[in-house]
Amino acid sequence: MPNLTYTFVVEHLDPEVGPWSALEYKTIAKESKQQNCRFILSSVPPSLLETQDLKHLQSVGAEARSDSVEAYFASKKEKICLLDPAAEQELDPSDAAVFDVFLFGGILGDDPPRALDRTSELRKKGFTGRRLGPKQMTTDTAVRVTRIVILDQIPLAKIPYTDFPELKLDEHESTEMPFRYVADQSGKPIMPEGMIELIKADADKAFDDLEL
Ligand code: SAM
Repeated sequence: MPNLTYTFVVEHLDPEVGPWSALEYKTIAKESKQQNCRFILSSVPPSLLETQDLKHLQSVGAEARSDSVEAYFASKKEKICLLDPAAEQELDPSDAAVFDVFLFGGILGDDPPRALDRTSELRKKGFTGRRLGPKQMTTDTAVRVTRIVILDQIPLAKIPYTDFPELKLDEHESTEMPFRYVADQSGKPIMPEGMIELIKADADKAFDDLEL
């Protein structure tokens, strides 16, 4: 019997779904499905709902919709927890009994991390907030950490992390990712499949643009 108790909502806050976001959302969809949780990607501009990226997301288990969480879950607002880097209280395993829905901003991270506070667009709607520690995470990492705390009942402090990992782009170049990630068993950051290749391709393109 699938456990559909918890729903993970990413409220998309950008005008487009770029390749980084598409990879993050695909990862959230697959991992949510594996753990029998519901994943809703909302506030997607209607014109994007018909794109290949969105169709693919739906095929791997995401529900995609154009309205906003405050509209479709209006009747259960007190059961919604906004994961908010500016919240005063940290997420705790006991929150599993308090909330049914965990809400995240569908925003690419910024560097330096505090330069933008776009999660405020959701905070000002009055959702109860919880923090996942002091460091900025990618959206898929924030969802992963929340699942670990809520489903596996592991406190934030017991999760293995790797902060600001250095990614090798080629023999000479590397880049530091300005985020906290969950570490796998060999201490490497858990990232969406295809993300390292995308980062390398973006770095190559930036280098080519510089040479023009
Ligand atoms: N600085 C960005 C902003 O504009 O708010 C953070 C965006 S972060 C890449 C995307 C989402 O992941 C946030 O909206 C939040 O829901 C979640 N998140 C990331 N790090 C978090 C943290 N340390 N505590 C709580 N939520 C976090």
